[in-house]
Amino acid sequence: MTNQNRVFNFSAGPSMLPLNVIEDAAANLADYEGCGQSVMEMSHRSKEFGKIIEDAEANLREIMNIPDNYKVMFLQGGGTLQFAMVPLNLLRASKKADYVVTGSWAKKAYKEAAKFGDIKVIASSEENTFTYIPEITKEDIRPDADYVYVCYNNTIYGTHYPYIPDTGDIPLVADMSSCILSEEIDVSKFGLIFAGAQKNVGPAGMTIVIMREDLLGFAGDTVPTYLDYKTHAENDSMYNTPPCFAIYIAGEVFKNIKNMGGVGALNKVNVEKAGKLYDYIDASDFYQCPIREKDRSLMNVVFVTGDADLDKKFVAEAKAEGMVNLNGHRSIGGMRASIYNAMPMEGVNKLIEFMKKFEAENK
Ligand SMILES: *Cc1c(COP(=O)(O)O)cnc(C)c1O
Repeated sequence: MTNQNRVFNFSAGPSMLPLNVIEDAAANLADYEGCGQSVMEMSHRSKEFGKIIEDAEANLREIMNIPDNYKVMFLQGGGTLQFAMVPLNLLRASKKADYVVTGSWAKKAYKEAAKFGDIKVIASSEENTFTYIPEITKEDIRPDADYVYVCYNNTIYGTHYPYIPDTGDIPLVADMSSCILSEEIDVSKFGLIFAGAQKNVGPAGMTIVIMREDLLGFAGDTVPTYLDYKTHAENDSMYNTPPCFAIYIAGEVFKNIKNMGGVGALNKVNVEKAGKLYDYIDASDFYQCPIREKDRSLMNVVFVTGDADLDKKFVAEAKAEGMVNLNGHRSIGGMRASIYNAMPMEGVNKLIEFMKKFEAENK
């Protein structure tokens, strides 16, 4: 690290970006690659921006191995707007969809979809405060459902699907806001994948949508033009002014991932980072992780001391040592270390050292 003032930011989002990407963007801020202006100022119809968005898509396709029959779109409105766009576009025949509720984000998506059709919760882990991922099989799914919806990594509770649900011919929709690019994914198993950028990709303001082409074109006549995926797919994400700067930074992150050896190489590091942290928590009788072992997230590591005041003290003292935003989500308390792709191993090591010291001082 060249900038000694930088903290380790364990926030669930917005979160850390690779320092080399930030520094490179800073060097190009006023004069992007000699074109005399910043990416924030240039026309989205310019040759320069055209190359930025085309490269971003090409690199994302390459690192995620996205099949040709999938459209990639860079949209706005965050993960949250997708909670509405998904049902508005995919409730196309029976107007039925089946949802798996594994946390607050999945629940919000379910509630939004329920405005537009016959939406059924086919499994939920709420009775156990979302500490595990339910097993769902084809038998749980209504045979005429238009799609099945899952939240693949549950940012608040720290769970992650240990399997891709088999939905047969029924398209599977996945919210991957907090795990996209952290692991290799077989895109062909999904009908639609979406992810807000600010967790693992880039700045807030851009949302990635990866959608199987044959699912386009089913939005009804009353669906606003802007909320129809087809509008964006047919215009290469340039129906109107896109979030240019966010797309540019995301594109730089994609290049960076390529240079680091791809998503598989990153995943190895992620497994090591999360493994160290979980191993330490499990070995300690001071900290506990409430999440079922096989369902634990690589990205969001949730833990508690069992004493709310001690948890608060932990968060405050960690902050004083340059490790910020370790508090759990306001709805569940405790601690949460979000260790996305850009969190270096150094940050995880420093956190574990701090945890040991805190344990020794407060046991
Ligand atoms: C953060 C998050 C969202 C909401 O994202 P916004 O971009 O703030 O709308 C949705 N789903 C998951 C899994 C998230 O982590």
